[in-house]
Amino acid sequence: MIWYPYEQMKTMKTPYKIVDAEGVYLYTEGQKLIDSVSSWWSAIHGYKHPELNRAIETQLRKFAHVMLGGLTHEPVQKLSDKLQSWLPGDLDYCFFSDSGSVAVEVALKIALQYFMNRDEARRTMVLALEHAYHGDTFKAMEVGDDEDYHFVLNAYGQSRYVVHIPTETGALEKAFAAYHDRLNCFIVEPLLQGAGGMRMYDVSFLKRARELCDQYGVLLIFDEVATGFGRTGNRFVADLVLPDILVLGKALTGGCIGHAVTVANRRVYEGFYDENPSHALMHGPTFMGNALACSAALKSIELFEQQGYMSKIRKIEAITRREMQGFSDPRVKEVRIMGACVCIEVYDPDTIAGYQQFACGRGVFSRPFLNYMYAMVPYIIREDELVAVLQTMKAWFAER
Ligand SMILES: *Cc1c(COP(=O)(O)O)cnc(C)c1O
Repeated sequence: MIWYPYEQMKTMKTPYKIVDAEGVYLYTEGQKLIDSVSSWWSAIHGYKHPELNRAIETQLRKFAHVMLGGLTHEPVQKLSDKLQSWLPGDLDYCFFSDSGSVAVEVALKIALQYFMNRDEARRTMVLALEHAYHGDTFKAMEVGDDEDYHFVLNAYGQSRYVVHIPTETGALEKAFAAYHDRLNCFIVEPLLQGAGGMRMYDVSFLKRARELCDQYGVLLIFDEVATGFGRTGNRFVADLVLPDILVLGKALTGGCIGHAVTVANRRVYEGFYDENPSHALMHGPTFMGNALACSAALKSIELFEQQGYMSKIRKIEAITRREMQGFSDPRVKEVRIMGACVCIEVYDPDTIAGYQQFACGRGVFSRPFLNYMYAMVPYIIREDELVAVLQTMKAWFAER
């Protein structure tokens, strides 16, 4: 018996059973659906990409996996070299793990231990954003601001270690004034908060955050598990404002195998690098640096670079803006567009109940949640396919 994610199993609808997938399409036994979710925003090259598959198959003929405990191998070395040269600034030190949540845990653990290694024992607190989502493991939930965590709040009460603020400069400055000597880090999903409702905010907030973090010696963490690899219309938001620690996941492998990485800058790495064994980072997921995942990630980055993905993303944004131009409905609170992400927020969640089945009837797979109907398509989508996705979203309002 499968226990499905985010579902009340007693009332859950039967899931769509996928028998094949290729390009932007998911195939059920009887239907072909454009995937407007990209498997939780990860399948940026679509499905069954021949070059990604070949990269995995080639590595598979050598070995699928060996641990990184005392061992190393070419795919993980090549991937860390590639990330070191490809990522901005001195984000050079790659700690691999098997999922975004774990990579966030690693980032938070690094931030705390960085200060403990320096005997700054007061810095136990984390600053985070309202509506944040950083994954479903315990510390990730605690720095998040998600419904998932509310039962824990009921059980344990408010965390003494996390402060949440809105994405407003005034709130940011107040929080730093109050807590600067107790904070070890400020963690954000930069520019675009995904699972918290595709909320978008201005880069000026991040620039001010960088200044305040510099002023008070607080580490700035960008959780780019969702925003990385072009989703916001920037390659990484870290190209605009440089964090001290960057977390990547989801699209890292082009969505074909779970893998993630926590990348630290030189200052952070040097906070662990000395003669004292207790200053080491004591972490090591069994499947970190998995050879198939690293081979897929290398190929995914190569495709991203060589096939002009940033211009594909700009085109997706332009088509989306054109198609959403003039769209309005009294039930709609806001239409938000950034890069290859579009979200229609409605006032009442009942307004979009039944949209998934409606979209499916028109050949589009969608997964609206709460008040949010959205599309985050694979970047290889054709114009007519993208238009079909956006027309389907608008048609739901026009026909009801
Ligand atoms: C999905 C997501 C995570 C968690 O990644 P998993 O691989 O599901 O553990 C963390 N942070 C952000 C911003 C995400 O979107």
